This record gives sequence, structure tokens and C-alpha cells, in this order.
Amino acid sequence: MTTFIKETEFFQLHTLSDRVYAAISISGRGAWSNAGIVDLGDELLIFDSFTTPSAGHELRKQAESLTGKKVKYLINSHYHGDHVFGNQAFSDAAIISTSLTKEWCKEKNKLEDVEKEIKETNDYLTNLKTRIHSTQDPIIKASLTNQHNEMSKVLDDLPHLQIVLPSVLFEDRLIIEGSERKVELHCLGGGHTPSDTFMYLPQENIAFMGDLVNEELHVPIFNPDDFINILKHVKEMEIDILVPGHGNVGNKDLAETVSDYVSFLMKKSKEALENRVPLESFLSDFEPPSEYLNWRGVNGIRDNLSRMYRFYAE
Ligand SMILES: [Zn+2]
Repeated sequence: MTTFIKETEFFQLHTLSDRVYAAISISGRGAWSNAGIVDLGDELLIFDSFTTPSAGHELRKQAESLTGKKVKYLINSHYHGDHVFGNQAFSDAAIISTSLTKEWCKEKNKLEDVEKEIKETNDYLTNLKTRIHSTQDPIIKASLTNQHNEMSKVLDDLPHLQIVLPSVLFEDRLIIEGSERKVELHCLGGGHTPSDTFMYLPQENIAFMGDLVNEELHVPIFNPDDFINILKHVKEMEIDILVPGHGNVGNKDLAETVSDYVSFLMKKSKEALENRVPLESFLSDFEPPSEYLNWRGVNGIRDNLSRMYRFYAE
């Protein structure tokens, strides 16, 4: 049973179990993804830090005032900015990720020239506006509008954004035992990015999935084979409450739905390649099944189809 506690500028707080909370982002406010708060007994652990320092600071403030304890650990599930650009609010905590996620953070999340970043973000926002006005598809229009609103919040924070990298690294598994509760970090490879970590609370059967599981979202797929294998493992775990990287708190059905989605795209792409259908006609002739028609994503289902087609063409 999850219970709604309160709404802040960036997110809603829900209790998942005694002193375990999900911070579910409110669309377009600068949090963009979901985060978790776990009271380990004497200190707090935070899972993912949102997309702006402002949202990260609010997360820390709410976590510490809810529990009266201090944050000791921050987990970065993967390198994407919408999950790690709030890291600077936790710069005195032990920031934990896989070694590979840290490498990708270092490589992809560079901030060398702020003026240049501001200009590029402004150009990107202008481009999004053009696409919002020209697209006829209401779901893509809504997804682009959300992207525009979130990126505007990133732009507001860019002048004082600092890239804070993880400092405590692990490879495939790490257990953190607090005085009253333990959490397990699992990395079974990379499905959405080259390295994806999820967090499991074995006493409470709660999982925080990062972007390995999302609700009705065409989340980018990095490696479909690994994605399916990771989700197969997740489906075999005892999970009663599952917090997706984006969307509402659910249960293991969310993992099942994502797994079916990846399998479906994989099957279609492989069929097209076997029949030597060129990518362009594969994409233009493709009819999305009704169950995916309402899924969000700025490029819709075809972006993942094309990604997967190329993946198996190699
Ligand atoms: Zn992501």
C-alpha cells in the first residue's frame, strides 16, 4: 500500500513502506525522473538526483525533514542527465555508481563552456518549439512540450550547474547495510545505457528501477538482448512495489510490459532484416499496435524500431 504524503514544487512524495519513500516527478518542473528515499536507520540513502540542482536540493531538504536524518549515500542508476544533474545537492555524500556509469558520466556529461551550453540549449529549445508547432500527432506534441518545459528548467539552472561524479564504485553488486535496513544494488549489464543499476530492498520487496522500467514511455534502448535478460531476472525477483524511472509507482507488471515491448520491437526488426526490407520502408509501413499508441516519447516508437534495426543489422 503506497500513501501520498505531499506535493512540492518538483515532485510528489509517497510512502512505500515504513520510512521508504518515492519522489515522483511532476511533469515539466525540472525533476523529470523519479527518485527514492530510504531511511537506513542512522542515515539516509537517496536513489537518483533528478535533472536540475534545484530539484536535487529540494529532494534533500524534503528527505531530511521527513526523517530528521542526514543523507549519507546517493546512488546514480545510470549516466543520463535527467537522473544525475541534481548530484551537486549531495556533494558531501558518498555518490555510488558502477565504474562504467562513472566513465559515461565523465565522457557525456561534460560542462566545459557554460556560455556554449546555454546557447546550444537555447537552440535546442527553439528547435523543439518548431517541432511542437509542426507535428500533428497529439502524443508526440505532448511529449515535445514536456521535453521543452523540462529543458527550460535545465537552462535556468545551467549557470550554476556543476558536474559531480560518483566517488564510490562497484561492478555488479553492492549491499549497503544500515543499522535497521539493507539495500542491494544490482547491475546486470546495460539495456537502456551501457550500464544500468537498480536498487532492491529485500525485506520490503521494493525495487527502484531507474530507466530499466518506465510507465508507457518509448525509452531509448541501448542493447535489446541485455535489456530482455535483465528484465527476465527482475521478473523472477520477489517485488511487490516497483518504482519506474519515469511514471507512477506500480508493481512487477510494469517490468513485464516493458519486456513485452522490447521483445515485440526485437521481433519486428529481425523479421524486417530477414526479409531484406530497407529501414525507410520498414519504418513508414509500420503500424504501431494499439497498446503502444498512447505511450509518450519525443520520437515515438519508430525511434526505437530504427535503433533496433540498426543494432541487428551490424
Ligand atoms: Zn535514462
